[in-house]
Amino acid sequence: MGAGPLRTAGAGTLRPEHAGAEVRLAGWVKARRDHGGVIFLDLRDASGVVQVVVDPAAAPEAAGVAREVRDEFCVALAGTVRLRPAGIANPDLPTGEVEVAAAALRVLSPSDPLPFQIDDRAEIDEVRRLAYRYLDLRRPRMAANLRARSVGIAAMRRVLDRMGFLEVETPTLIRSTPEGARDMLVPSRLRPGTFYALPQSPQLFKQLLMVGGVERYFQVARCYRDEDFRSDRQLEFTQLDIEGSFWGQDDILATLEEVMVEVVSALDATPPARPFPRLAYSQAMARFGTDKPDLRFGMEIVELGTVFASSRFQAFRTTLESGGLVAGIDAGPLGLSRSGLDALADRARALGGKGLVTAIVEEGGTLRSTLAKHLDQAETAALVAAFGAVPGDTLLLAAGEPRETRVLLGKLRLELGQPKGHRQLRFLWVVDFPVFEVTPEGGLAPAHHPFTSPVDVSEMEEHPERAVARAYDLVLNGTELGSGSVRIHDPALQRRVFSVLGISDEEAERRFGWFLRALRFGAPPHAGFAVGIDRLFSVLLDEPNIREVIPFPKTQTGLDPMTEAPTAVVAEQLRELGIDLRPEARAALEGEGEAPPG
Ligand code: ASP
Repeated sequence: MGAGPLRTAGAGTLRPEHAGAEVRLAGWVKARRDHGGVIFLDLRDASGVVQVVVDPAAAPEAAGVAREVRDEFCVALAGTVRLRPAGIANPDLPTGEVEVAAAALRVLSPSDPLPFQIDDRAEIDEVRRLAYRYLDLRRPRMAANLRARSVGIAAMRRVLDRMGFLEVETPTLIRSTPEGARDMLVPSRLRPGTFYALPQSPQLFKQLLMVGGVERYFQVARCYRDEDFRSDRQLEFTQLDIEGSFWGQDDILATLEEVMVEVVSALDATPPARPFPRLAYSQAMARFGTDKPDLRFGMEIVELGTVFASSRFQAFRTTLESGGLVAGIDAGPLGLSRSGLDALADRARALGGKGLVTAIVEEGGTLRSTLAKHLDQAETAALVAAFGAVPGDTLLLAAGEPRETRVLLGKLRLELGQPKGHRQLRFLWVVDFPVFEVTPEGGLAPAHHPFTSPVDVSEMEEHPERAVARAYDLVLNGTELGSGSVRIHDPALQRRVFSVLGISDEEAERRFGWFLRALRFGAPPHAGFAVGIDRLFSVLLDEPNIREVIPFPKTQTGLDPMTEAPTAVVAEQLRELGIDLRPEARAALEGEGEAPPG
């Protein structure tokens, strides 16, 4: 091919105006068609795909090479761009009107036979995809996701830089900060027996940056939480982490909205209107049965206390008399048969409900339901009116403890609701979260984290379970993207919150003395937020889970099928760290066929 650069143009950039140009291309053989004469290669590089034609009559040597190449060989070629003959342009390809007539071709690097096709249409087992992630990343969908993520993060940086934020890195080897999850620990070799924690988030460091006078901070921060793998989580994930001094909730919300609009626009989607709607936590629970409502469809929860207050339907009346809730959703024209309705009731039980009453509204406003015979005409009319239901609608009614009943209906709503309109983006702020949540053991835990400011301090001490926090969540299409809060900047108040949580002054001093001390040096009022970047892009790119937007994720069980991490280490490494494996751990390693350190 002679001297000169390997590449002078991107395969995907060639257009009719380049006809006649001499180009050098380099990339991968996406496909090869050899009909015994002219050989066609589809050449792919990061910019796209172009058709290459190797004619044995014009370039016998190149044709010899072309006969030998296979899928995903890495090749370089020199040739001339020309228009494709009339009628055989490929309208599906941006380069479809041209092709490159190769004069020279050489293999830069051959490929073993592939474990799977580099093709978006192929259904490939995920563990296999992850084991060969570098091949998976060549697939158009993954390549597009990586690119979109990069474009989106660049947009975040651009808008925050414009607003005067400083990008500051915080350490990843830290003393543990309580964010509610289990810490990932890193043993210290220099002080055997001691451990760093990997940050669950940069929370306390960003607050210290505010004490340090930074005023506007952000970071694209890696966070680590050693959680059991529930659904869509990873041991490590990325956050857009933000903090501002002399700020309150409205400043943070406005900043985040600007960031979201910039990111969505950068991805060529229609930017959401500002301000984003806001809903108090209590309203979200009452109307949608969840703290992260999906606003792409209605089907809101309707409370039926007044309809059934003096009803002959005893189950509902007694629930109401004992302080319970009767509520329902209008699931619209489901058109379910008897057995379909029974399956729905089974589903409600599987979701933890005690029972579901279904009613189909008939022409004339009567109900097809076991409930029908217990209701007089006025009650029936009141029920239909409460939902604003029309004939054909299926009403689902539940009764019980108020929160449980709302949560059940919220889940059914999500399963039955049909988001209308493709790629709608419905952002929502949920504000006024509680300060604490009651743990299954009956204790109190911070609903956000213990550095969140309560709205009313005496309320927090007298009725902690009722107290409202200056805390807020950002929700997109029913996914919680992130949380934030106005922080406590007064060390005395911080101690009072610890004390409600059952953390004594001594314990607070031992665990957080270093942080409380900083608050005593003129700490400014401050507030902040963190957006889960993986979650954000998985929703924006309409992917079913965050692994599709993470270049090298782990499986649901925390394994990396490519490197096989986590693995056992050699005895010497453990000795240096002052660590002995317990017999159970050794036995487990042997059971898995790993050699335990000798
Ligand atoms: N550190 C919090 C989190 O990771 C976010 C925040 O309050 O800024 O959820």
